[in-house]
Amino acid sequence: MIRDPKHEQMSRGDLEKLQLERLKAIVAYVAEKSPYYQRAFKERGIKPGDVQSLKDITKLPFTSKLDFRDNYPFGLLAVPMDEVVRVHSSSGTTGKPVIAPYTQKDIDTWSEIMARTLATAGVNKDDVLQNAYGYGLFTGGLGFHYGAECLGASVIPTGGGNTKRQILLMQDLGTTVITCTPSYSLILNETALEMGVDIRESKLRVGVFGAEPWSEQMRKDIQGKMGISAINIYGLTEIIGPGVSTECPYQCGMHIAEDHFLAEIINPETGEQLPYGETGELVLTTLTKEAQPVMRFRTKDITSLNPEPCECGRTHVRMSRITGRTDDMLVIKGVNVFPSQIESVLLDVEGVEPHYMIVVDRQEGFKSDYLEVWVEVSDDVFSDEMQKMESLEAKLRAEMDSVLAIAAKIKLVEPKTIARTEGKAKRVFDRSELPDT
Ligand code: ADP
Ligand code: ZN
Repeated sequence: MIRDPKHEQMSRGDLEKLQLERLKAIVAYVAEKSPYYQRAFKERGIKPGDVQSLKDITKLPFTSKLDFRDNYPFGLLAVPMDEVVRVHSSSGTTGKPVIAPYTQKDIDTWSEIMARTLATAGVNKDDVLQNAYGYGLFTGGLGFHYGAECLGASVIPTGGGNTKRQILLMQDLGTTVITCTPSYSLILNETALEMGVDIRESKLRVGVFGAEPWSEQMRKDIQGKMGISAINIYGLTEIIGPGVSTECPYQCGMHIAEDHFLAEIINPETGEQLPYGETGELVLTTLTKEAQPVMRFRTKDITSLNPEPCECGRTHVRMSRITGRTDDMLVIKGVNVFPSQIESVLLDVEGVEPHYMIVVDRQEGFKSDYLEVWVEVSDDVFSDEMQKMESLEAKLRAEMDSVLAIAAKIKLVEPKTIARTEGKAKRVFDRSELPDT
């Protein structure tokens, strides 16, 4: 169901008009209220009146994670602290956390965006939604919680972890929608099977999965194992948290909430704006946020945008699955590769389970001469003759070479030996982090 047809089905022309109106207003707002942007604009001689078209956004400076860090904790705040009703922070996967303050109006806007997002994913007020995203500073837990309540679904706020209890509640309370990271959905399924529960026979019908990169192959695996529609959702702390974009049931790219977020794709090396369809770094500008609006935030996430009408009837642009963050890219003997590409290759091969680790010997940043992939095999492959294991290993090596042009050492490991995580999965390890290899 389309929750907000007025905004979600606007013609591109009307949408661009609305975006321009909101962009002009937010630029004037930060120029007046945010000491950080006052400084940044002054340094570059920018006046709010310089933005007269959407294209003029390129006159504005980028904001990066580093700018948040240098101005930690509240340097980008545009309202007095007494107007702030909640503060979240990023998980700090890549350094000092980013602080995200919200006014009451921001919380209301975010809840409505999340309600709309969940509706886009195919959730409705009759659903029983089990929210296994982490509660607390992480935006996932409370973001989904408020959105689902706003939609009118029945929320079970389990948070992450305590997996056996999750399965019990899922059965007893008749959960129809699960929200968590894609990697955690696999742990839920694995634990259910250990408990003798087949999730395919439960009432669960939709999973709304995000917060980490995952491949199309991983989706197929999850959908097959759990008998659900696995929907991709994207968001980030600097911009609002979850709700920036989500797939509709057609699963053909994530609709960006374009009445709230203005999206650009840039060449990450030159900063130059790229046209629709081209792959590059996603840059986002918040159009409606009050406490901490952000101009041209460089997400480091690699994707492309498709403005073609979608079968679901929504007109908002669709972003493709994120291949990875620019700072997650591995350079193996001069070949660039993202962990998610390695995942795609692995999971395309029969007999492999979606649990893997990438081991590198890191020299200067992400460069490495060496790549080793540890991957779990399925029970039946493992219990079969040695020969089967050897031919699987050779097959994986050959696929890595032919699809990604990288020479990787493959190490097949027993089912359930690779560490499971409840939130965002860690895939890449430096050899020095591993104790006895
Ligand atoms: P941190 O940057 O500390 O991990 P966040 O929780 O704000 O904190 O993480 C946001 C990041 O998570 C995004 O920039 C992106 O890299 C990743 N992410 C979120 N959703 C997805 C998704 N659906 N697919 C791939 N990556 C995602
Ligand atoms: Zn759609």
